[in-house]
Amino acid sequence: MKYILVTGGVISGIGKGIIASSVGTILKSCGLHVTAIKIDPYINIDAGTFSPYEHVVPHITDAIQEWVMRQAKVSVDDDGVEPQVCVIELGGTVGDIESMPFIEAFRQFQFKVKRENFCNIHVSLVPQPSTTGEQKTKPTQNSVRELRGLGLSPDLIVCRCSTPLDTAVKEKISMFCHVEPEQVICIHDVSSLYRVPLLLEDQGMVEYFCRRLDLPIEKRPHRML
Ligand code: ADP
Repeated sequence: MKYILVTGGVISGIGKGIIASSVGTILKSCGLHVTAIKIDPYINIDAGTFSPYEHVVPHITDAIQEWVMRQAKVSVDDDGVEPQVCVIELGGTVGDIESMPFIEAFRQFQFKVKRENFCNIHVSLVPQPSTTGEQKTKPTQNSVRELRGLGLSPDLIVCRCSTPLDTAVKEKISMFCHVEPEQVICIHDVSSLYRVPLLLEDQGMVEYFCRRLDLPIEKRPHRML
């Protein structure tokens, strides 16, 4: 099983859901069996109505990892085949107090399932204030630093921006976020969300995952232009 964790930085509502579903769509069109998990980081346990003979899970990070592995195996296709790839969207923003147990669970998880089976896509914001019209990289640098500080390193940094990223800005993000330029992907605001998978594919996402996760991809996505 290959796990692709999608995290978000800077602001909520940045487009993690669209990126996660677009990644799943592309990998499905490559002939892979793909499933998805959406995690909303709320832990709603009301101790007042709890049986005194039960405990709140003492090792919540273990429980999260076991639940993810169990859910990832559930078939979602008509043929009943076990999925090969699980795209996991972690709701909220990295650094939020409520998502900390989940981030820590995935920090441990990456070692449990081994490097070739786990990768992280970090969706971040590159604002372009109208005062100067410049695309600003600082919020992305800060959110990647925060993610690294929590023990996860981004394999792909997906930059959400209002207009396509300038090459110099992409290089700056690569340099200051310590990733190769090919690991910086730009997804600007589009009029139709169906363009998002095409933008990801155009920027080499399939090739990257093929190498990074050693995916058994034989057929290329079928594009309807
Ligand atoms: P999150 O999962 O981070 O909360 P969503 O994927 O739900 O974010 O996206 C938030 C909103 O932004 C949605 O209304 C979505 O349609 C819109 N959106 C996301 N990506 C883009 C894009 N590239 N261009 C235009 N709108 C987008």
